[in-house]
Amino acid sequence: MQIIIFCFIAAIATLAERLAPARPQPLFRTGFFPDVIHTGVNILLRFVLTGTLAVVITETAKQVLPPSMVGMVSEASYVVQLVAVVLVLDFFFYWMHRAKHHYDWWWRLHETHHSSDQLDWFSSVRFHPLEKILDRVIYLLPLAVLGPSQDVLLGLAAIDASIATLAHANLNVRIGPLIYVFVGPEMHAWHHASDPEHQRTNFGNNLSIFDWLFGTASLPGGRPAAFGTGDADYPQSNWWRQVAYAFRPFSAPGS
Ligand SMILES: [Zn+2]
Ligand SMILES: [Zn+2]
Repeated sequence: MQIIIFCFIAAIATLAERLAPARPQPLFRTGFFPDVIHTGVNILLRFVLTGTLAVVITETAKQVLPPSMVGMVSEASYVVQLVAVVLVLDFFFYWMHRAKHHYDWWWRLHETHHSSDQLDWFSSVRFHPLEKILDRVIYLLPLAVLGPSQDVLLGLAAIDASIATLAHANLNVRIGPLIYVFVGPEMHAWHHASDPEHQRTNFGNNLSIFDWLFGTASLPGGRPAAFGTGDADYPQSNWWRQVAYAFRPFSAPGS
């Protein structure tokens, strides 16, 4: 089901970017084929690895935590469960995302996501596999505590995919006053600017509220002149070299 939702969103986004791109660029832009592999690997991780981990951690949480702290929203309505999961996971995401930009070792993994210098909706799939594994392991704690149903997790996946697609799209789209609640392209495009000052703003995933709350929101208007990390050596066209690039030696201070 998640793959059907993803394909539907992908088809609409691809068509919109062909019809009205913010910046003309080819469909098969630099890094397109590695992004196809990133998509496959991330889907595989989501279904195989984290599915197994979810069972282990949920069962462990039941043993370790008081019963009142496991499955806190399990009995609530679908809407309440969905709102709770989006709010709590976005809160975790926001602080994790800030840490990814703060700690060198975590940035090495997260820089893969920032490496696309021709940002479009398909850039939203580009993640280092190790970053995704860590994300999903960390998310398992709040998920074990909240205990949402599988239907709610499917709803969350649909929201994640829709907002990520729109936020990265190569489109001159604005979401108006909704930008004070949700992440839109007018915020997230600036998070992908090659200028590091802009990269340290707009850390939200689905919700922008934590950026507004904690002083990291930025709405400069327009779109950045350049995207990416500004690293001319970044291996744009090779998935394996992108994965390996995260493990290059750190340069010595002063060198
Ligand atoms: Zn980032
Ligand atoms: Zn992004």
